[in-house]
Amino acid sequence: MTIYWPNYYKDFKCKAGNCLHTCCAGWVIGIDEKSLKRFEGEPEVASRISDGCFVLKDNGRCPFLRDDNLCEMILKHGEDFLCDICKEHPRFYNAFDDHTEAGIGLVCEEACRLVLEAEGPFELVADDGSKMELPDYVKVIFDTSKPLTEKLSAISGGRRANSKIRSEIFDEMEVMDPKWTKLLSKVIEAPVSEEDENKAVLENEKALTNFAAYLLYRYKGAGRFAAESVYLLSDLIVKGCGLLDVARVFSCEVEYSDINIDQALETFA
Ligand code: SF4
Repeated sequence: MTIYWPNYYKDFKCKAGNCLHTCCAGWVIGIDEKSLKRFEGEPEVASRISDGCFVLKDNGRCPFLRDDNLCEMILKHGEDFLCDICKEHPRFYNAFDDHTEAGIGLVCEEACRLVLEAEGPFELVADDGSKMELPDYVKVIFDTSKPLTEKLSAISGGRRANSKIRSEIFDEMEVMDPKWTKLLSKVIEAPVSEEDENKAVLENEKALTNFAAYLLYRYKGAGRFAAESVYLLSDLIVKGCGLLDVARVFSCEVEYSDINIDQALETFA
């Protein structure tokens, strides 16, 4: 089946030892069956697995992650030796009847930079060079004849939570990092007006358009969710957060918890 990728994917390369927010720490790393079998033949790997997962160190780091943030397993056995989750992260796939739409998740700082800094609408390109048109629900957000605020209103059917309620909704979700709760509490304690939200949206229009497009693409046209997420980011920008940083943290907290993403999509359906 043909897999289409946004054209910026060709520029994606893991920052490895230069990554400031390595994905090899702070998560449960579940190993697929095939890799588990392969690892059984390597005692120094097998001894660091329990219940199908790598046994993380006390500081939450993968046991194969060296102090210089390079992977001991890759250095010793090569990238092909890795289990699926380590090989695939931060890629995601949406399967359709006749093709697959793939992408890279904002939880990875390099993916986040590439996605948010992209120029204009992305193209969907397969390995053989064939292209696929962007779905209409993604195209609308790149319409340059309207400001982003107007397009957000259109994709959310004119519905919009106020900043306090929106942050409270996200705050009720499973927390991956307590710093996220602290950020949300800034908005809950001193809500941001719609006027200030709109100003932040328009001041960061290119990156927030890319952010909305990413969510629309990944969650198949979930317009209200995309709009509320853009406004949440704009609230946090008003509170002094950096856009790239807060988009990455949002992705980690909301997208990379199955419970949270289901809840967010359902709440903002
Ligand atoms: S977060 Fe991204 S850049 Fe950093 S180590 Fe993971 S895949 Fe590489």
